[in-house]
Amino acid sequence: MTEKVVIIGSGPAGLTAAVYTARADLRPLMIEGMERGGQLMLTTDVENYPGFPDGIMGPELMESFRKQAERFGTRIMSSDVTRVDFAQRPFKIWVDEDEYAAESVIISTGASARWLGLESESKLRGHGVSACATCDGFFFRDKEIAVVGGGDSAAEEALFLTKFASKVYVIHRRDELRASKIMAKRVLEHDKIEVIWDSVVEEVLGSDVVTGLRLRNRVTGKETRLDVEGLFLAIGHDPNTSIFQGTIDLDAKGYIVTGDNTMTSVPGVFAAGDVTDHIYRQAVTAAGMGCQAAIDVERWLNEQEN
Ligand code: NAP
Repeated sequence: MTEKVVIIGSGPAGLTAAVYTARADLRPLMIEGMERGGQLMLTTDVENYPGFPDGIMGPELMESFRKQAERFGTRIMSSDVTRVDFAQRPFKIWVDEDEYAAESVIISTGASARWLGLESESKLRGHGVSACATCDGFFFRDKEIAVVGGGDSAAEEALFLTKFASKVYVIHRRDELRASKIMAKRVLEHDKIEVIWDSVVEEVLGSDVVTGLRLRNRVTGKETRLDVEGLFLAIGHDPNTSIFQGTIDLDAKGYIVTGDNTMTSVPGVFAAGDVTDHIYRQAVTAAGMGCQAAIDVERWLNEQEN
């Protein structure tokens, strides 16, 4: 059986595309991935999604998206796509050995947290090193910890971690935060947070658990030791496009390139959300793009029939 549309990924973009394609009678099949719901599953309060004046928890918001998609008949499979072939139509999509055929595809696989790339960091991952404050913050009650990064994610993580930690250091490689003004202000004014400017982590110290960090000041070159028991990375994200390499055009950073609408370099394959957007990267913009992709798919399928 050939599906009319297969949606790969289940964050705000994918689930919005599902709602729209389902309501357009395209009976979407969503392969949601093992990290169902995407990055909002790892956040706490979402304060800027319109329609929720008091805020909403990220996982709760995604559960609502999912229910809405299912209400209109979206079929959801909880697996990771392992391989695709977009060379000819119908397109082929594999989940391990199982093959699916599709007339059109919407890619909404999002982006994942970036790591520093230090050997000591990977060694101590899960033993004090984390990229998810909401997942692991709880383990650092009354402890001193550090967050690396200067953007909104770093600000959000640092503020969230003050609920548990006795002190939160924000280590930023420049002398100015990239975070939005409101978030930066909250960080700078928080009495539990101290920003360490112009500095990078050279090494995570500790053999079984994190005991400290070796920092280097990029201006003076001076190295110092910071005694902390946890390290949280919040240095941005990379698009989840490894399985699409060689099948559609990606830019130098690996983001999917789209044209005038959400269509990729392969007609019939569309992309929406963080997997193609390195500028806005908001839940609401991802959802908007998911809607656009669904409308683009519907029109494109109609054109193929006529
Ligand atoms: P980001 O804005 O790209 O910031 C990444 C930060 O990490 C930057 O400060 C960057 O330094 C630093 N960095 C990158 N690579 C590094 C490395 N190897 N070593 C040390 N530092 C490194 O990413 P983000 O904070 O994840 O935010 C992404 C998008 O999501 C943004 O558009 C943001 O507004 C949005 N967002 C919004 C909210 C909210 O509204 N509540 C929350 C989270 C995220 P430089 O500044 O020197 O580049």
